[in-house]
Amino acid sequence: MNQPTSPLLQGPPLLQVRDLARSFQVRRAGGWFGKPATLHAVDGVSFDLRPGRTLGLVGESGCGKTTTARLVLGMLTPTGGTVRFEGEAVPAPGTAAWRRMRRRMQMVFQDPLGALDRRIPVGVQVMEPLQIHGIGAGADRRSRALELLDAVGLGSSFFARYPHELSGGQRQRIVLARALILEPSLLVCDEPISALDVSIQAQVINLLLDLQAKFDLAFLFISHDLKVVRQVCHEVAVMYLGRIVEQGDPDQLLIDPAHPYTQALVSAIPVAAAARRRPRLILKGDPPNPVDRPAGCAFHPRCPAATARCLVDTPVLKPLPNGRLVACHVAHGEADSPRIAA
Ligand code: SF4
Repeated sequence: MNQPTSPLLQGPPLLQVRDLARSFQVRRAGGWFGKPATLHAVDGVSFDLRPGRTLGLVGESGCGKTTTARLVLGMLTPTGGTVRFEGEAVPAPGTAAWRRMRRRMQMVFQDPLGALDRRIPVGVQVMEPLQIHGIGAGADRRSRALELLDAVGLGSSFFARYPHELSGGQRQRIVLARALILEPSLLVCDEPISALDVSIQAQVINLLLDLQAKFDLAFLFISHDLKVVRQVCHEVAVMYLGRIVEQGDPDQLLIDPAHPYTQALVSAIPVAAAARRRPRLILKGDPPNPVDRPAGCAFHPRCPAATARCLVDTPVLKPLPNGRLVACHVAHGEADSPRIAA
């Protein structure tokens, strides 16, 4: 199925993802004795990302955000669809061509302490990618690492320190310095601030925005926090059970969410009761097991707006008159029967 991509981000894409899919063979409950089944972790995801821009991927845990990121980076092989980066198809993982491409696409993880080696001074860890890729010599590498420590607001005095001597925010700055030393054009940020104290989250967000402007970086920004996404992203895609269900401008999407799932996510953002524009919408139950994806619209068992059509007909992601991409019969005015939910 060819899904449209949003027209919001103009210019040639740095990253072009089309109908991306990844399934896994698993066993149902019962361990080795359970029946084999197919889990569709990512199912027909398409988007473009332009240089210097940020696309946010949001959704509940298990919706396919991180699998999408790993597919984009070539850490997983797709079972369907394509990923093109700087005009070229992402090569097979582990090949020399893939390693060359990975220099230009780096990842920042949620837990900076887990991403660093506690036994090695952080300056040495910042230099390490240059060594791995055989770039420069000892003195050049050190001077480049010092430049990057400056760029992330730490300075040369941090070169000889160890990860356990640093705060969470300082460690994440080290992770960013190490990711940037290979001069990537794309950073995939997987919940980069969610492990940090609230008091330093804003500092790291500001740093990310400064680095983006300075190095013309594109970010694929994974988060479950729509408020953070609004601050950081030029566009946001909401995922549910492996598919994008709504995509558009973050401000408009937060003010006027069109898909009932997005409405529930927005409704869950804590705000003063007086400032709430719509009644609080609380979703029923947990997301279904992706092995047993519901027929029709996968969101229908939890959707307060579901109609009979939603039980059998899978909605396609397509534009509303305002340009927002939405996969919902009701949002498109195409429901042909009354609601079935109370
Ligand atoms: Fe709800 Fe139907 Fe829209 Fe799915 S298609 S989100 S079930 S109204």
